[in-house]
Amino acid sequence: MASVRVAVRVRPMNRREKELSAKCIIEMDGNKTTITNMKMSDGVTGDSLRERTKTFTYDFSYDSGDCKSTNFVSQEKVFKDLGSVVLKAAFEGYNACIFAYGQTGSGKSYTMMGNPGDLGLIPRFCEGLFTRISGMTRADEASFRTEVSYLEIYNERVRDLLRRKSTKTYNLRVREHPKDGPYVEDLSKHLVQNYTDVEELMEAGNINRTTASTGMNDVSSRSHAIFTINFTQAKFDAEMPSETVSKIHLVDLAGSERADATGATGVRLKEGGNINKSLVTLGNVISALADLSQDGGNSNVKKRQVFVPYRDSVLTWLLKDSLGGNSKTIMIATVSPADVNYGETLSTLRYANRAK
Ligand code: ADP
Repeated sequence: MASVRVAVRVRPMNRREKELSAKCIIEMDGNKTTITNMKMSDGVTGDSLRERTKTFTYDFSYDSGDCKSTNFVSQEKVFKDLGSVVLKAAFEGYNACIFAYGQTGSGKSYTMMGNPGDLGLIPRFCEGLFTRISGMTRADEASFRTEVSYLEIYNERVRDLLRRKSTKTYNLRVREHPKDGPYVEDLSKHLVQNYTDVEELMEAGNINRTTASTGMNDVSSRSHAIFTINFTQAKFDAEMPSETVSKIHLVDLAGSERADATGATGVRLKEGGNINKSLVTLGNVISALADLSQDGGNSNVKKRQVFVPYRDSVLTWLLKDSLGGNSKTIMIATVSPADVNYGETLSTLRYANRAK
């Protein structure tokens, strides 16, 4: 099995795209996603037709019902397919990571956070966690401890999104514990007892997130946000008491667009460069993991030495113990359906394709 499961999700056309009478260029059929380059004329055949359309296969394809297929996929369905796998893994003691990758405005925050009344993966995950805990505490001899932290990586620097103003929040150091793996020094951890506690922290953290205006989108997020749940279970029902700890990272990445595509200059361009460094490294890491898992599937093949460059960026270093190995990793590539975004959408689909 591939070590990273990949989903692609297309959002509905937005107002701007409708005003531009944009055409839909994404078609989904089962787990196949096809993108068409509208700049190449209609009616082409043979090799030219193959160049005009490109088809990718992912583990899941989520349509918005706007394009040729009319299969609208709800937030609930996305959680059922992806979030519940991670929830199960957390109770089994695995580490996990879900991240959303895509151009600004393609639906990363909608998928990860959602809107009030239309909740995304993170709130649904937390709700599910506490529902299950309350069921289990009654049924089993078990106790649970859940702590959350919320940070942002901006220009390769870590910032605590939940720390009170009076203490250090910026420029926190990443370190690595020989047993427990990478961690952020001085990052605040918050004990939570129920979903309302989590909701309050998420809201406070979201308000703190760095946003800056770019040529492409009025308020576009230029930072990577990592919401981490440290989940500890102690069980007393077995002959031997046991404790398992799992770390779940839920990640809303910065927009994947290239700095030059946003008309960025100066500081903005520098940000773009650093954001891309983390995203490029993440791509290299998941592609290295995909190579490793292919080797692992065939015991006759001598294991190749595959170097996984976790420490090349802050993002991948922090996610290290939730990417690869025994952990469950899920990538959701979010895309626009419109021809005006062809270049960015194709690059997102290619990026996601490297995870296989
Ligand atoms: P990003 O985080 O990638 O910059 P957003 O999540 O903010 O993008 O999405 C941009 C807009 O599109 C938001 O108004 C969001 O509610 C809407 N949107 C994104 N994906 C979907 C979807 N699958 N269904 C409905 N609306 C969506």
